[in-house]
Amino acid sequence: MKKHNFNAGPSILPREVIEKTAQAILDFNDSGLSLMEISHRAKDFQPVVDEAISLFKELLQIPEGYSVLFLGGGASMQFCMVPYNFLEKKAAYLNTGAWAKKALKEAKGFGETVEVASSEKEGFTYIPKNFTVPSDADYLHITTNNTIYGTELHADPQVDIPLVADMSSDIFSRPVDVSKYICIYGGAQKNLAPAGVTFVIVKNDALGKVSRHIPTMLDYRTHVEKGSMFNTPPVVPIYAALQTLRWLKAQGGVEEMQRRAKQRADMLYAEIDRNKLFRGTVTALEDRSYMNICFVMKEEYKELESDFLNFATGKGMVGIKGHRSVGGFRASCYNALPIESVQALVDCMKEFEKQH
Ligand SMILES: *Cc1c(COP(=O)(O)O)cnc(C)c1O
Repeated sequence: MKKHNFNAGPSILPREVIEKTAQAILDFNDSGLSLMEISHRAKDFQPVVDEAISLFKELLQIPEGYSVLFLGGGASMQFCMVPYNFLEKKAAYLNTGAWAKKALKEAKGFGETVEVASSEKEGFTYIPKNFTVPSDADYLHITTNNTIYGTELHADPQVDIPLVADMSSDIFSRPVDVSKYICIYGGAQKNLAPAGVTFVIVKNDALGKVSRHIPTMLDYRTHVEKGSMFNTPPVVPIYAALQTLRWLKAQGGVEEMQRRAKQRADMLYAEIDRNKLFRGTVTALEDRSYMNICFVMKEEYKELESDFLNFATGKGMVGIKGHRSVGGFRASCYNALPIESVQALVDCMKEFEKQH
């Protein structure tokens, strides 16, 4: 049976990315060696990193003066690297979900932190607006897509201080004005590559401004200076990321990804809103994520929740169970998800409704 992969992360990748990576694992560039057996300093591997960086810059139209890094440690490591490198006195954080809250928690050890707004009391069902940002803060940290709750900032916020963003789950799904940011980071396993590599876009002249000592591995300057080769980078995930970046470019880039994301999301939200059994969990409709679409059984049909999960699983849906902290359902619709998979889920919801 065909599987429809709605996993939240690690998650769906384009088939050709998996095939090309599998091929390189068997034989890298006709070298007779596996991608897993070569040195990251081999002369054949440097072009992989170089092309990945150059496609990153091209696809996101990253201005001059920024570096793209491929690191280990996950997005979670960035929660501490960001304040280590950028927080001198004060930093502002927008609390829109569990990941945002973890980022804020890490920053607390480095200086004064200001939570500019939070939707936690309402279960993170919307993105706070009209908050004030202290003008003397070193940066405002945002989480552009809240993977667990299904809310998304669809545009770069207008503030007078530099932005830092966790874009783990919506990178390359829309154009971004990178010039507003001093740092954009994310775990690659949602929309770019298998788990194991973290991307960081960093503004070079924003570095070196804090007075504290930064451990070598946690100092962005180390990785900027060594082109992500200070120590052994995750070779296989970087290779897969390159294949995804090539795929993205061939498909039409981030504008096309945004068009597809909106098309998928519109289709699924329309069914959630129409179907008598379900309701969406995000209260501010303009904040509904295009990437992670969260819904639950309406109160009067609550007892059908596990039945629907079994029914949908039987029809090939994978990964639609909501995050354990929210419950219900979450259909993650990342860049590589074909519209046919969304149609299959919608058909499932319609058929289940007919039975009840
Ligand atoms: C998944 C996720 C993380 C955590 O990523 P790791 O690479 O596992 O540390 C952080 N932020 C967001 C928004 C996520 O979706």
